[in-house]
Amino acid sequence: MVLPPRIRRIIPGMTYFRPLFAALGLSLAAALAQSPAPVTAVRAAHALDVQTGQLIPHAVILIRGQRITAIGANLAIPAGARVIDLGSLTLLPGLIDAHVHLFLHPGNETLQTVDESTPQRTIQATLAAKADLLGGFTSVKDMGTEGAGDVASTAVRQAINRGQIPGPRVWTCGNAISILGGHEDAFGFNPALHIPSNADVVQTRRDLIHTIRLQIKDGATFIKIYETGRDRFADGIFSTPYQFTEPQLAAAVQEAARLGTFVSVHAQGEPGTLYAAQAGVASLDHATQLSPRTIRIAIRKHIFAVPTFTVFKFFADHAPNAKSAANQYAELAYKARQFRLQLKAGMPMAMGSDVGPFPHGTQATEFVLMVHYGMAPLEAIQAGTINAATLLRAQANLGSLTPGKYADIIAVQGNPLQDISALTRVKFVMKGGTIYKQPPGTQPPVSLN
Ligand SMILES: [Zn+2]
Repeated sequence: MVLPPRIRRIIPGMTYFRPLFAALGLSLAAALAQSPAPVTAVRAAHALDVQTGQLIPHAVILIRGQRITAIGANLAIPAGARVIDLGSLTLLPGLIDAHVHLFLHPGNETLQTVDESTPQRTIQATLAAKADLLGGFTSVKDMGTEGAGDVASTAVRQAINRGQIPGPRVWTCGNAISILGGHEDAFGFNPALHIPSNADVVQTRRDLIHTIRLQIKDGATFIKIYETGRDRFADGIFSTPYQFTEPQLAAAVQEAARLGTFVSVHAQGEPGTLYAAQAGVASLDHATQLSPRTIRIAIRKHIFAVPTFTVFKFFADHAPNAKSAANQYAELAYKARQFRLQLKAGMPMAMGSDVGPFPHGTQATEFVLMVHYGMAPLEAIQAGTINAATLLRAQANLGSLTPGKYADIIAVQGNPLQDISALTRVKFVMKGGTIYKQPPGTQPPVSLN
């Protein structure tokens, strides 16, 4: 287990000085409060201000404890500070993936939820969390355990938060919510075996509220609902049935809000995307088909589209036969055309890759695809930093290199505004002031279990 450096420094001191504090009549807490956490200075050739697109030269970020205290060019470094010199690298805020599946790994998605036990999948999820963090993602929104339930994802999240295992900050919905015979129900099996759905199945508004309450009780930090599916793309036409009515979704949004959180929906196309936008969800995930009316409502209500190009491309690249591949590439091209229309209309965008079906830690490819399909590099970076933080309602703490926010910092070689693929080669990762990855040769070396 790797303890944060601050804790490592405090523990030996606690043991050694406890009798002394006691003798002097001081409480340990009071003694610690009198000695502020030491300062760390991260220095690099540049830092990117993701809000303005400005590159700060000779960048220095000062960190105390888990948070940034100052950032600027050639800032004076206080005496005694730990200095991490990253040379020619460019500093950015930690990346945020607003659509991941920690409990999925490459392979047959349906069968892994049938073949593998929940403990087995939970162990896989801890490895996925580590891979995502080392890939530069210091926060992720886990969009469903796909049948592993709510408690398993809560256990992974809590182990990360306690510092027991390395991983990003995790927002989790536990299992997603769907309807009987809807998206993620177990199709294609012998019905006599009663293979369960990969989602929590609800039929009525009452069921929906009950399930939301149960999921939050089990540790979910937001709610995911499958609003559309199963999808059909034929002869250039995309269609997908809606699953819940607008009043049902509005009731879910209201219940989530009562509990202090939000609803994200899997929503591929109309009319489900419209119903979800009218109901006031936080994000429309996949968002392949949005009508002008849906986009207008989403802009007014600050609802984000999360395109998830990487998973579509991965499935097309790995289609079982040429006919299927051709259809999937045609659907991807349709999605790209729709994306450009959404961009032109000013649709708010957050980055989400849908990683899990493809290897964890590789999902910065999503930035490359967003730029490939028409986004400016700065907009793509904003989608995966400040916008995703806003979607998570964590913009006061995450999403930019700003004093007062958590020291979630990554570094890449080169200028990602000129070569967005630099984000796929992250050299340095810090989360909350703790280093998890650094370039070879940097002292002292980081060791990760
Ligand atoms: Zn997904």
